[in-house]
Amino acid sequence: MADYQIITETDIAALRRLVGDGYVSRGESHRELHAHDESFHETHRPDVVVWPHSTADVQAVVRLAAERRWPVTPWGAGSSLEGNPIPVSGGIVLDMQEMNRILDIRETDFQVDVQAGVIYKELNQRLQRQGLFFPPDPGASATVGGMIANNASGIRTVKYGPTKDYVQRLTVVLADGRVIPIGNRARKSSSGYDLCRLFTGSEGTLGIVTEATLRLVGLPEKVMAVRAAFPAVENASQTVFEVMSSGLTPSAMEFLDGAVMGVLNRDRGLDLEEKPTLLMEFHGFSEQGLQAELELVEDICRANGCVVLDRGIGPDERHRLWEMRHLTVESIKRVHPALHLLIMDVAVPLSRYSDMVTFIEEETRGFTAYVFGHAGDGNIHVVVMDDHHAPDRWCRVQDLNRRIVLQALEYEGTCTGEHGIGIGKREFMRREHGPGLDLMRDLKSLLDPQGILNPGKIFPPAAEE
Ligand SMILES: Cc1cc2nc3c(=O)[nH]c(=O)nc-3n(C[C@H](O)[C@H](O)[C@H](O)COP(=O)(O)OP(=O)(O)OC[C@H]3O[C@@H](n4cnc5c(N)ncnc54)[C@H](O)[C@@H]3O)c2cc1C
Repeated sequence: MADYQIITETDIAALRRLVGDGYVSRGESHRELHAHDESFHETHRPDVVVWPHSTADVQAVVRLAAERRWPVTPWGAGSSLEGNPIPVSGGIVLDMQEMNRILDIRETDFQVDVQAGVIYKELNQRLQRQGLFFPPDPGASATVGGMIANNASGIRTVKYGPTKDYVQRLTVVLADGRVIPIGNRARKSSSGYDLCRLFTGSEGTLGIVTEATLRLVGLPEKVMAVRAAFPAVENASQTVFEVMSSGLTPSAMEFLDGAVMGVLNRDRGLDLEEKPTLLMEFHGFSEQGLQAELELVEDICRANGCVVLDRGIGPDERHRLWEMRHLTVESIKRVHPALHLLIMDVAVPLSRYSDMVTFIEEETRGFTAYVFGHAGDGNIHVVVMDDHHAPDRWCRVQDLNRRIVLQALEYEGTCTGEHGIGIGKREFMRREHGPGLDLMRDLKSLLDPQGILNPGKIFPPAAEE
């Protein structure tokens, strides 16, 4: 690990001069708030939290950090699930929440310019007036910068794609303090290396995103929502495959196992069938068009033995369905208040989805486990609830996580569909990327030779490879 310098009181005074007195804190509560994300990973406090207001503020802080060799970890909303923003080497946490301005909505270009600290849900509320939206939807109250850094995705990715498909331009502060504008406003370009995609998914290890131009999409005219319950996981998986290959383009295709449905019933006072369930959404131009799609969806579901099919067209139906899905993790937590959670995240090719879910169901026997995910993308989550403070029990949970990831890699999938590597998935990087990992290390050394940006993430410690 790089040799970092200590931040002294004189340094704190220098930081205050750069960004303003009230925007630098060494207080216990601020440091504690920035010591953990939403995961179980060990907490680490930063030495100081800084809230910049502009690209110039970020540049000034990073320049000083580069000069003094202090670690700098950017921070969005801290909603990550793999320890991605935990400042494992201390130093500065650069909290982007004050950089939360929507700078320009360019309706006719289908683009919006934002500062990195904008919360995507607030952005979408604002864009509604223009009939536009930014589709990646991770559910939690994430910032645009955090979504770009983790290449986040969500329930609508099956139709609209992940965050990386929406990054048109970026302003990035590099580890030496240079400010680099990247990208352009054209809808297509084959001009040189695709630097927007290099920084997307880099988890704050290559540069700090201060502003972004995002692509937007028109809000759909009509929306149809379908809930279908099946006797077994295989029937639901086969339905996913047939819907996806039928020419239909669902805008969401979510799988929830029977245990998740049970939790939703208990926590939310519902009365739903506690069986493997698919939640689907379709976007269209007219009700007639959606009705025709609905008939095809119904045929496929019934041919696969669906036992319940609940459907409706319109915003209320849609809201009912997605509220249930978005609150799944909260409901699981509430039903097991004394236990801690580990959310696993893998993705496999669609042809392996059924095998992967079956493998998970077998491996999770004897655990308090819930399986759900973005089935249309081959993305599966397993939430296991257990006692984090009982080392042997928690080791068992981590072993389970390992087995599930290794199986996903065996199926030529990935160790993370959307949560990123952070600390939790570093150990799988070599296995997934082989010599590609060395190239990633070379890029990191080129852009951040002192290793000051979000140290300890993505790359496994050499001794553990
Ligand atoms: C209940 C729950 C459900 C979730 N569901 C999903 C889901 O469906 N799909 C999904 O993709 N994720 C999901 N997540 C994970 C998380 O919400 C996303 O990864 C989100 O994008 C993180 O954004 P954030 O603003 O909280 O970033 P943070 O967690 O603060 O940071 C994420 C990473 O980005 C870096 N970073 C932050 N801002 C910047 C910046 N401006 N420049 C450079 N680097 C930066 C940080 O250093 C860190 O490495 C879920 C989380 C929770 C708690």
